[in-house]
Amino acid sequence: MTTAIAIYLLLIGLICGSFFNVVGLRVPKKQSLLYPPSTCGSCGTRLRKRDLVPVFSYLFARGRCRHCKKQVSLLYPLGESATGLLFMLMYIRIGLSLELVAALLFVSLCIIVTVSDLVYMLIPNNVLLAFLPLVLIVRLFQHGEPLWHYGLGALLGGGILLLVHIVSRGQMGLGDVKLFALFGLIIGFKSIIVALLLACLAGTLIGGLLMLIRRVRRKQAIPFGPFLALGSLIAYCYGDAIIDWYLNVLT
Ligand SMILES: [Zn+2]
Repeated sequence: MTTAIAIYLLLIGLICGSFFNVVGLRVPKKQSLLYPPSTCGSCGTRLRKRDLVPVFSYLFARGRCRHCKKQVSLLYPLGESATGLLFMLMYIRIGLSLELVAALLFVSLCIIVTVSDLVYMLIPNNVLLAFLPLVLIVRLFQHGEPLWHYGLGALLGGGILLLVHIVSRGQMGLGDVKLFALFGLIIGFKSIIVALLLACLAGTLIGGLLMLIRRVRRKQAIPFGPFLALGSLIAYCYGDAIIDWYLNVLT
């Protein structure tokens, strides 16, 4: 592990994060990723190069459009910095290996679906379909855990949420079901169980908190994709430690 590579991954992550915001915002609306160029959401002014530097443009303009002075969504700098930090964190944990490719794909998928689900309450099929073959290739060629660990992860993750989808009569969307199956293929069957528990815990805590401060109404649907992503990311990094800790508490 070298500091230079860690910083390099942070920068690459910031730039990728900026692109993932675009993917998450445009794919659900069936818009092209390349055209039209980015504009201000309020006044439509085309953004120049100096407006497109991840995080820094936002900070220098104090979170406002330079033209119309309207507030720019906090989602942009948050998505960018989260991608940068997670890319770096994954490298520090894993080092340069094929598993790092899986980890970076995983982070990318998490950021894109979080943006889509927060903004549109939707997890686009096209995004899942684009990641599936990439994840499969990495899992086929890796040397770590046997392949069935991940296959079972996909079955369990998708299977449990499919049950929830049926029992809840569609309250849990099919997008969540497919997403969690794909997460299972990335993190394996042990971590996917931990991920589900963490996602439910985070959903209850954060959902309850939002209700308490009256940011959401009691019956209002809350997107679950971001919680699945959060739970899966933590389980991927610390799943074994959490299972060990839990077994220690039991015995
Ligand atoms: Zn503007």
